[in-house]
Amino acid sequence: MATLTLPENKTMLTLPGDAVRQIQWRFADRFDLQMLVASARGVARGTVARLVAAGERNTHEWTPAKAEMLEAFDRSGVTAAFMEPEEGGFIAGPKNLALSLSAFELAWVDGGAATASLASFLALSPIHERGTQQQVTRYKTLAAPPQPGEDRVPWRGAFALTEPIPYVGVDTGMLSGKVTVAEWKDGEEPWLQIDKRGRFITNIAFANFVTAAVGSVDPRIKGSCVVILEEGDEGSFDRGTPTKKLVHQLSSTGDPIFNMKVPASRIVGGYTIKDSVIVPNFNHGEVIEAVFRRTRVPVGLMTAAKLLSAVEPVIRYQRQRFRGAEGAKPGSVRYEQGIQQRQDALHRLVDVWATGEAAASLGFAAARLFDALDPVEKQKTALLAERGVQGGRAEMKALKESEQRAIELLELPENDPRRAELEADPLVQYVLMDAEANVICPATKLWNTGHGANTMREAVSLMGGYGITEDCPGFLANKWMDAQLEATYEGPEAVQRRQLTVTMTSEVFLAQFRAWTSQMRRIAASHPGTGACTLASAMKLWLWTLNYLQKSTDPDGAKLYHGQRQGVTFALADALSWLLASRYQILDVMELDAKGPADPVAAEGLAGTVQFLSDLCHVQAAAAAGEASRICAELVFGYSPHPAWTDENHQGCFLASELAEYEETMPGITAMAVDVLQIDGSHPQKAGPCAGCQGNSEFLRLQNKLTTCLSGVRLAKDRAADTVAKVQIPEALDYPA
Ligand SMILES: Cc1cc2nc3c(=O)[nH]c(=O)nc-3n(C[C@H](O)[C@H](O)[C@H](O)COP(=O)(O)OP(=O)(O)OC[C@H]3O[C@@H](n4cnc5c(N)ncnc54)[C@H](O)[C@@H]3O)c2cc1C
Repeated sequence: MATLTLPENKTMLTLPGDAVRQIQWRFADRFDLQMLVASARGVARGTVARLVAAGERNTHEWTPAKAEMLEAFDRSGVTAAFMEPEEGGFIAGPKNLALSLSAFELAWVDGGAATASLASFLALSPIHERGTQQQVTRYKTLAAPPQPGEDRVPWRGAFALTEPIPYVGVDTGMLSGKVTVAEWKDGEEPWLQIDKRGRFITNIAFANFVTAAVGSVDPRIKGSCVVILEEGDEGSFDRGTPTKKLVHQLSSTGDPIFNMKVPASRIVGGYTIKDSVIVPNFNHGEVIEAVFRRTRVPVGLMTAAKLLSAVEPVIRYQRQRFRGAEGAKPGSVRYEQGIQQRQDALHRLVDVWATGEAAASLGFAAARLFDALDPVEKQKTALLAERGVQGGRAEMKALKESEQRAIELLELPENDPRRAELEADPLVQYVLMDAEANVICPATKLWNTGHGANTMREAVSLMGGYGITEDCPGFLANKWMDAQLEATYEGPEAVQRRQLTVTMTSEVFLAQFRAWTSQMRRIAASHPGTGACTLASAMKLWLWTLNYLQKSTDPDGAKLYHGQRQGVTFALADALSWLLASRYQILDVMELDAKGPADPVAAEGLAGTVQFLSDLCHVQAAAAAGEASRICAELVFGYSPHPAWTDENHQGCFLASELAEYEETMPGITAMAVDVLQIDGSHPQKAGPCAGCQGNSEFLRLQNKLTTCLSGVRLAKDRAADTVAKVQIPEALDYPA
């Protein structure tokens, strides 16, 4: 790790450019991804921005202008980003980071455009993750954009899980969509009857195929599955009416009804026949889990893009606020600085900016992790298959030993010779990456979109009345509303919190979390200005709280940390997500500090950029620490009843008559005593005698330490605000309002 100590007087002169972002988000050596970013940006700030400016969001219908956007995706390489080179794509290998970068660029201008591009990939994802080779080849080739000279319109897809109430929402296990055997002749492939109604299905106005989740109501088909429906199949492919959305209007959404007959070969992942029963190789839950695990990450990054995209328009608005007024002559502070003369305006923008940085760092870390995990996961499956282990409980059992080895690795000192052996073990690598991915994917979706939507409101408010008009540069009000959809679709916040409740308590994850806490202290030693020490103290407090809650009960003896007790588990999941976002933000600044000097473009003004981004880390670490501290304190103390003015609880109080006596041997005690009972039984006007901290004094010690760790954070915020007031921005936004 670099140990550069930054001179405090360096100031960032321009907004962080592509070279800086490529280093932070680790694609400086990926020319293919840089090209994709450039192409997606061209479509976003060109075609998409013009559609928004022309009012295309004002209709629920799928219009020719919106359809042109899809063609622009095809021409620019955005569509092909999902495909392998042999399927018509240009990026080989895992594509989580690629799709995330593309979604980020599109959402920088409009979330609906990003969704329209991602929805086709979402439809293909069940096939990509779990499909048979035949299915993968057919649908990905059909969905690939035409090659030059090829006269073909690519197929678009839709993914249909959600059903009309009261069925699938959070509880994806409860399906009303049905599959039965339509026809099954001896020795021939069976035909299936599909009856599925969808609700809020994206891309439905033009989809050529749909991947739909259905459950069997026929004893000749086992369980559930995902099936592929094509618009030309026998039966009715009714696209339904468009949803009257308030958000993401550049994408198409509707409630389709499918009654169709398809061959059993359309079951995603294939099937076997056992005792005259069709047994799908994957049930719908297994397919969906593999899909959402990855596709939720770009959604989180869409909200991150919105937050960061707000910075430039807000700065421009603030600076120009008073220009043209009689009293604001060029050269005057009022003319030059506008609202940026006022500290609060700057501080609030710093908060928005810091949140955007943290959200982007968390999301891109998750995307990269899935890219790294994909080949290791395949290796794991092959290694276990060699040992005769295939999925399910048998796999969990087989990986137990690797989990212990992973924990051992995390606890070994840096120079221990055993490290090399453990690090080279692909199963150890797999369990480590898997445990991290299981936490940071839902954390990205939960924190980026949920907290991000709240923070977008702040961004809108900084533009005053302009912020809530269609004319607002950067379309900020649209982005605020759109962020709420990102928090909802692909599983609303409860789904992410529920997943975190389970994954954040895995032994391997907690061992990593302890190692990360020490890592933050080490970073703090070389880079004290990042807030890494504050974050480490907050991480320690969170871990203490989790341990405490896992062992504690409420006054009725019921366990506090329990799956059904969402008041405890969900709150801790929220606190963890804040801490994780801050951690990845700090790591990205460390990367920039280490690698920036070697990049000729990033190196220019690097010290100032690193200083500013470090200050944002510090601000964010303090916000995360405050949030975690508040949540943890409420959980640790909140489940003990407050003492009341009852005889039983009086025992810890002083009697007025006793105090006079004590005063003789302990002068001043009267001034310290707060819970004094008078002779007539009266007491101070408050809820009861103050609560003690039996068993929790360690919490108070850690919380106290955390509070003092906040030293310097407001200095960092002042410094960041000063930069926000001075940083140069382009004359005009590079996309229309
Ligand atoms: C524009 C748009 C596009 C969409 N695109 C698609 C698509 O392409 N394909 C598709 O299949 N679906 C799609 N959806 C559906 C979307 O995924 C669902 O709306 C979403 O998963 C939430 O489900 P729900 O609407 O039934 O909400 P509900 O499940 O009713 O949730 C309502 C509230 O209750 C909370 N809640 C629910 N259950 C629990 C629980 N067990 N514990 C605690 N809290 C709980 C939720 O967090 C939420 O706050 C889309 C939706 C929209 C609006």
